[in-house]
Amino acid sequence: MTATTINTFGSTGIGYEFREGAETMAAGKYRVTDPCYFLGHDDPFWNAFCAFMFPANERTSDSYIIEIAGYKVFTWGTAYGDGCYPTLKNDCEIGESGVDAGMLSLVPVELYDLLKDHLGENDDKNTPVVEMTSSFCPEVDEGDCSFGSYEVLTSERATCCQRCGERREYLNWDGFCDSCQREAEEERREEEDNEDG
Ligand SMILES: [Zn+2]
Repeated sequence: MTATTINTFGSTGIGYEFREGAETMAAGKYRVTDPCYFLGHDDPFWNAFCAFMFPANERTSDSYIIEIAGYKVFTWGTAYGDGCYPTLKNDCEIGESGVDAGMLSLVPVELYDLLKDHLGENDDKNTPVVEMTSSFCPEVDEGDCSFGSYEVLTSERATCCQRCGERREYLNWDGFCDSCQREAEEERREEEDNEDG
C-alpha cells in the first residue's frame, strides 16, 4: 500500500527515500518551507521526488515523508497551490512561507548543515522555525497542517479579515471575522438608533 523510492544524492553516499503518509516526527527544530527552495537544488533528486509525488494515477495521500540520512522531512500539498502562507503558534502568527511548488514541508534544521556542501543554503531563510520538545505526528486537513501548538494555514483560514486585517478567523460573506462582524452589527444598530432618535 505504501509506495517507497530509495536513492542517493549523486556521489555523496547520502541516501534518501520517499514514503507516502504521515509518520511520527522526532523532537527538534524544523523550518517551515517549500522543499523546492532547498532540496530543489539537486535536479536528479527533485525530478525523482516529483515523479514520486505526481504519478500518472493520482495519489490519495495528503502527506509525504522524505527521509534523508535518517532525518525525516514532512511534506504536504497546500490547499490552492502557490502563495504566501502563515505559521501560527497558539493562534499568533510567527511568520510566513512563500510557496512556489504547491507544497510545504517541515525540514529539520540539522539537515541544512548536513547537506549544505551538496545543496547550498536554503533560498528562503526568512521562513519560520518551529520547535517541538517531544515527538509528534502532524495532521493535514484541507491543506492546513497542525502539530503541537502550531498551525500552518494554506486554506481559506489563511486569508485576512477585510476589516481588521487579522488572519486565522473564519470569515463571513463580507470577509469579516467574528468580532468584526459583531462590531459592524453594533455600528449598524447605533446608526439605526440615531436615525430613530
Ligand atoms: Zn476582523
